[in-house]
Amino acid sequence: MLTIPHGEAETPDQWEAIPTFDLATQPVEKRGELSGEWGFAWHQQLNPATLAEPAESKRTVQLPDYLNNLIHPEERNGRFAQGHATYFVRIKNLSDFYSRPAITMRYVSEAWAAYWLFPDGHTERLGGSGELATDPENQVIRDHIYVLDLPRESNDGILVVHLSAYHGARAGLYGLVKVEEQETLIRSILGDLTIRAVFFGIGLFVVFQNLLLYLRHRSDQSFLLLSVFAFAGIARSAFASNYVTYFVNQPWFSIPAVKIEYILILWPGIAALHYVCHLFPWRWNRLLLSTSYLILAVASIYTLLAPMVEVSYYLLVYNALLVLIVLAAVCVVIHGMLRRHEMAFFFSRSVIPLIIAMLNDIVAASTPDYNFYFAEYALILFLFIHTQRQAVQFVTALRVAEHLSNNLQREVELKTSELSLRNRELEAKHQRVKLLSQTDHLTGLYNRQSLDNRTKALFEQAEQSDSHLSLIMMDIDHFKPINDRFGHQVGDECLVHVASFLRGLNLRHKDLIARFGGEEFTIVLPDTSIEHAQHLIEDVCTRLSKETVSGSHYEIQLTASFGIAERVISQAPSYEELIQKADQALYQAKQNGRNRVEVYQSDTPE
Ligand code: GH3
Ligand code: MG
Ligand code: MG
Repeated sequence: MLTIPHGEAETPDQWEAIPTFDLATQPVEKRGELSGEWGFAWHQQLNPATLAEPAESKRTVQLPDYLNNLIHPEERNGRFAQGHATYFVRIKNLSDFYSRPAITMRYVSEAWAAYWLFPDGHTERLGGSGELATDPENQVIRDHIYVLDLPRESNDGILVVHLSAYHGARAGLYGLVKVEEQETLIRSILGDLTIRAVFFGIGLFVVFQNLLLYLRHRSDQSFLLLSVFAFAGIARSAFASNYVTYFVNQPWFSIPAVKIEYILILWPGIAALHYVCHLFPWRWNRLLLSTSYLILAVASIYTLLAPMVEVSYYLLVYNALLVLIVLAAVCVVIHGMLRRHEMAFFFSRSVIPLIIAMLNDIVAASTPDYNFYFAEYALILFLFIHTQRQAVQFVTALRVAEHLSNNLQREVELKTSELSLRNRELEAKHQRVKLLSQTDHLTGLYNRQSLDNRTKALFEQAEQSDSHLSLIMMDIDHFKPINDRFGHQVGDECLVHVASFLRGLNLRHKDLIARFGGEEFTIVLPDTSIEHAQHLIEDVCTRLSKETVSGSHYEIQLTASFGIAERVISQAPSYEELIQKADQALYQAKQNGRNRVEVYQSDTPE
């Protein structure tokens, strides 16, 4: 570390030759601005004690300016201003205007140390950054705002800045140096930080909003690309502001941070190109994108591997590449406009503030005493507007889709319920038809066909389990005379009466009662032996004979004859034969005087 040697004190009388800012003579609006003539010596660390002494190496320069411009081409070490220099300037009448003066230096690089020389000859170190070294790899690069407290009550003195420079293109006191009241200064720094924090917050919001939208709707890549674009934007902003280096505050991080900053010059441009390529399809898009990613890859590898001295020398190349990439993006948007892509017109309108901000930044970068940069803020706002528009479009599309699908669903539900109603009606009709086809319309009992079907099934079951099955044929006695005497209608009434009488017997669920035809009925009793059946039917016969069918002009006493047969292999090996045997028994009952029950015996006449 190089320090300022102490020497014989010079008196302010001897300082008259030194470039001076007399605050008393400065116009109010410019008071404290130290841009103008400074004392300068290249390759020297001047002894403050002899600043006033004329020397060949000393001369005056106009600040702010880049170091490369200040040194004579013959004194340059190759392409770079490698070495160290001393800047000095006298400030007069300081305490007349400032109670707590502070010096601010913007955009200073590289390593430096500042001193204050009092009129009595003693010096005080005000601050510094990095090592004033001669080895380029040990340089610490920081060029954010530096704040130096000046000694209070010091009305007259010399500000001496020693600076060692290895990155010539960007070295030197190339930003505004100013005396300010400490309070004002802190306020402006806090203001700057607040604005940055707000924009950083908006940027992060945009990143996450787009990520969430992308996760919700993965088929559309524009949200992902917008998210990457926004991330590149805030990363660039963070590194370019130097707050990252400031907060990390580790010497080893300084060079990597600057290298990342250089790479980040290109990335937002490429992210923008990728986004517009996605929005406006064009056959050249693939080529443009792959070339720009190749450029990014080569530039990143070069930046990370090459010495910082070289990298910073090519700053202009990075910016030129960015311009090329942005021009490619502009071409894609113009192509989209030619294709009358609605989004392209929106894009071209929304990008105008960003273009204005970028032009401003070019002016700021090339004008030493104008340092207001705002392209990074404009970029974040641009991305914010784009995200909101895309999000609104997305949500609208989603709502429309939802609405359509709801309508469709409602329609389907309506049709389904209509169909199921129809189905139920059909089913009921079918059941009715089935019932009608199986029952006798007059009495409601099973008809002949269903008797045949059901009894055949019961017969087979009984055959399989070798169980009893008895079948009874019943015929109303002297029915014809009833018809003849009272008419068919009364005959019908008698048939209905007999049917309801039979139903009222409350036989078992598995027993079967059917109208065989005319005034004949059939009863089938599964699992019932012929003795049991006889017992049961004799009771039925007796009960029926007590039934009367009465109307206004008639009262009819009904009787019936019954013939019973049982499924026995030897006598009735089939259902048809079982019917036949029961019929024979019935015939026998008629023969034997009616109103009685006869059981089929093997000697019953055929
Ligand atoms: P029995 O059986 O005692 O020998 O004498 P019957 O008078 O009942 O003799 P038959 O079996 O010959 O007569 C049956 C009569 O039943 C003939 C027919 O007019 C009548 N008949 C058949 N089906 C119906 C019907 O659905 N309604 C009415 N009212 N009469 C019917
Ligand atoms: Mg008959
Ligand atoms: Mg009869």
